[in-house]
Amino acid sequence: HLPTAELQALDAAHHMHPFTTGADLAAKGARVITRAKGVYLTDSEGHEILDGMAGLWCVNIGYGREELAEVAARQIRELPYYNTFFQTTHVPAIALAAKIAELAPGDLNHVFFASGGSDANDTNIRMVRTYWDVKGKPGKKIIIGRKNGYHGSTVGATSLGGMSAMHAQGGLPIPDIHHINEPNWWAAGGETSPEDFGLACAQELEQAILEFGEDRVAAFIAEPVQGAGGVIIPPETYWPEIQRICDKYEILLIADEVICGFGRTGNWFGSQTMGIRPDIMTIAKGLSSGYQPIGGSVVSDEVAAVLDSVEFNHGYTYSGHPVAAAVALENLRIMEEEGVVEHVQTVAGPYLAEKWHALADHPLVGETKLIGMMGSLALSPNKEPHATFAAEAGTIGYICRERCFANNLVMRHVGDRMIISPPLVIAPEEIDILIERARKALDETYARAKD
Ligand code: PLP
Repeated sequence: HLPTAELQALDAAHHMHPFTTGADLAAKGARVITRAKGVYLTDSEGHEILDGMAGLWCVNIGYGREELAEVAARQIRELPYYNTFFQTTHVPAIALAAKIAELAPGDLNHVFFASGGSDANDTNIRMVRTYWDVKGKPGKKIIIGRKNGYHGSTVGATSLGGMSAMHAQGGLPIPDIHHINEPNWWAAGGETSPEDFGLACAQELEQAILEFGEDRVAAFIAEPVQGAGGVIIPPETYWPEIQRICDKYEILLIADEVICGFGRTGNWFGSQTMGIRPDIMTIAKGLSSGYQPIGGSVVSDEVAAVLDSVEFNHGYTYSGHPVAAAVALENLRIMEEEGVVEHVQTVAGPYLAEKWHALADHPLVGETKLIGMMGSLALSPNKEPHATFAAEAGTIGYICRERCFANNLVMRHVGDRMIISPPLVIAPEEIDILIERARKALDETYARAKD
């Protein structure tokens, strides 16, 4: 391929990147990733970079799996495309839907496919409103999400999410979507106990329902563990109270499992880890380990029965795409065969937890959080909750991310919070390398933060 500098110049000239300014691209050039194997990426300069983010929280079984390449090639030869509109179907979509129903908790037995998490969440908006229409309660339209939640980048999904910078672009949210606070004890200042704080955050849902009227609230949507918002693991009191409130007021519970699903929290689904019974789950990412774009809405017997009683006028050209479905199915087969969820539970998760929490001794680290294979570090000037650096919020986190990259480690930052979410198959000795590089990046960031 072309030399790196030429690739970067072409990239900056023609390729618009998500969540990046053109000026940054033109000034620094993007890192060009050329290959990947296991937990390592290789860039155009030959650096081997440990991917502590599994791409965008998705490459659960690691890179370079030949089996997936073979299944994709076979499926492209056999049936590269057909749709699932009206009354046609095909074997990969049938088999994948049945497999998801088998793995999903409770009676979440029905799948409506999308190409990713955003469009699956858009499906959910239409599903819950249609559900209540058909049930004779057309007033139930409001969906409540959470501040700093992330549900994707389409108009609907951005509205469900609670990222104010995203709302500001495009005049969002759309009507009848509201947000309550996230259960982020550290950011809120840590003044009450985490348990009391978790309960109070959950009770904001009840207050909102009482304010709007239960006859107007259709659903509550949240990630079992908030991912893009900073890996915010809620206090133990939070989810049981949310479940109680949803049950009491007949509010559909949508668990956005796009990150948490498929092993990330140490169970197949984050809902199982949190002990909740969603009516709808959003899935994507780990469903195919990112090898193909595919997502979906997994709904309960009851929700499916109501929606199936009418023609649901909704669908995507690529709903249940045969190549994506075949690859996802193979990914799930490998996960089962290799016991990837058990690996998270008994090997990689506990090992990472020990090493990750040991970073708390670093002078720059306040809170350390980890569940399964997703974790965060709150960077802090004095190790106190809610403390902020003199520099603008996010500056120290950005420096730390850059130092990670310079040390051949991908970690993400959300403001001044560092995040990891490595491939689930990571081995203990690779975790050692991850931690060693993270510590080095923290040391270098600390030296800069003191200046
Ligand atoms: N929901 C959650 C919880 C996510 O983290 C994401 C992406 O990061 C999405 C939805 C959007 O998924 P996609 O980018 O596949 O549209």
